[in-house]
Amino acid sequence: MTPSRIAITPVTAVTCDESFQVIPDAAIHLEDGAITYVGPAADAPEFTPHETFGGPHLVAMPGLVNTHCHAAMTLLRGYADDMALEEWLQTKIWPFEGGLDAEDIHWGTQLAVAEMLQNGVTTFADMYFQHRRATEGLTASGIRALPSAAVIGVFPDVPGQVAEARAWAREMKGAGEGRVLPSIAPHSLYTCDRDAWTAVIEAVEEVEVPIQTHASETRFEVEEVRRQWGATPIQALDELGALEHHLIAAHCVHLDERDMEIMARPSRGGSAVRVAHNPTSNCKLASGVAPVPELRRRGVDVGLATDGVASNNRLDVWGEMRLAALIHKAVSFDPTEADADAVLRMATLGGAEVLGLGDRVGSLEVGKRGDVILVDFDKPHLHPLHNVVSHLVYAVDARDVETVVVDGRPLFHRGEFRTVDVEQAKAEVQRRARSLARKAEASAG
Ligand SMILES: [Zn+2]
Repeated sequence: MTPSRIAITPVTAVTCDESFQVIPDAAIHLEDGAITYVGPAADAPEFTPHETFGGPHLVAMPGLVNTHCHAAMTLLRGYADDMALEEWLQTKIWPFEGGLDAEDIHWGTQLAVAEMLQNGVTTFADMYFQHRRATEGLTASGIRALPSAAVIGVFPDVPGQVAEARAWAREMKGAGEGRVLPSIAPHSLYTCDRDAWTAVIEAVEEVEVPIQTHASETRFEVEEVRRQWGATPIQALDELGALEHHLIAAHCVHLDERDMEIMARPSRGGSAVRVAHNPTSNCKLASGVAPVPELRRRGVDVGLATDGVASNNRLDVWGEMRLAALIHKAVSFDPTEADADAVLRMATLGGAEVLGLGDRVGSLEVGKRGDVILVDFDKPHLHPLHNVVSHLVYAVDARDVETVVVDGRPLFHRGEFRTVDVEQAKAEVQRRARSLARKAEASAG
């Protein structure tokens, strides 16, 4: 990486660290990818930057963290909505996905990376199949990510899938100057059997990477897992020994008392289950509402996530923040639940902790990596300004993101992408999605 010095000033800085400071007239210095100063501009040390960002109406904050996503599913945006989950999967999603090749997945992922950067997401966790080509592309984009090698029990050759996951995870360690961290993703307990899970756990023991999975998303899933495993998804994961590793579980909507006790147990510097909360996806698929305030009170790590575009239809963590802040109030009849500070924390440092990156990103602190976004507050919907954090959660829109810096490298500024060819990504996805839809319709009869 070429050495670089970036100054971000003047801005209002929202640190999102433990002290949760809002610093007016601030300066942030980034040197060789790391934060070397954050504080009042008047106190900043002498600094000669290569490039300067900032302005009086800009708010600087840590980049948003999307803890669960299937990036390439941008190809399915708007393809099938307003259907029951089982019918949706069987008649629409799976026939479409059956036609995907590695190039489709690469272009779907490139479009997702562009969308996320434009929306201020600097780190995301990804789960999809045929991951190699897509991972090369996202590594080149400069975004921070936890891609995964999927293990899907209903696909052929599970031992081969696990062997590939293990080999790839070993190869990927340290990729993208440390920005890209491999993980292994057994899809769920209802699609992967005991042999598959045991093989995955052996692999992560050896290569020491996180596990990403889906757990307790729907009532149907919990019943199905009880039938197959004689336990709830969380209790089955515990019994397998999966919770002795870093485990990121998407959804966790349907939980009992014992599940929550298990999830809160300390493990490897976090909670035994680290939760990716997907409020929009859970609403759209009518799965329910995860008991997130209760999980957080018990000390479970929770981050926000979009899930794939097919069940969202956007990769917009601002939308997830606003919905999370509203929905937990509505279902608890308590307007003090999911307050703005708590929700902003879940979208930044909380999400970083879920992904095991809390010591590297998620807040503006000296020594952390330079993942910083600037939000333009010179907009009608952001006036007047009483409370910056309130606006960030309840009023800011993804389109207000002006600049996105990852690892000290500017990747998006005033509508321009510096590393992703967004025009090509749009054209490729448009062309490929049309032909995939035609193929899927033909195969459905
Ligand atoms: Zn998912």
